[in-house]
Amino acid sequence: MTPRRTLMARLAHVEYAECMRLGHGWQDKGDTDNDIGGWDEHSLCPRCTTERVRIMDRRGYVTGRKYIRPGDYGVKGLGVWDADMRAALRTVAHRRGA
Ligand SMILES: [Zn+2]
Repeated sequence: MTPRRTLMARLAHVEYAECMRLGHGWQDKGDTDNDIGGWDEHSLCPRCTTERVRIMDRRGYVTGRKYIRPGDYGVKGLGVWDADMRAALRTVAHRRGA
């Protein structure tokens, strides 16, 4: 169980709540060749400006992913969002009428 003060610290800094609740709204930003004979597929979420790179092999299989997040996407030192934090975020958004 996530400590309540950790949850509250996170919720006080929710600037990208929609993406965290609903997922990112990826838009295609084109492909570039990569060094394994395939291509890197670049996409961008216009809401939070996170960039995603999916690394494809030459047959189109995804072999890896990289995310470049805005510097203030998370709260430094508190780690990733876990199930308790996401549940609390959904509850707050629901009560606000999201
Ligand atoms: Zn996003």
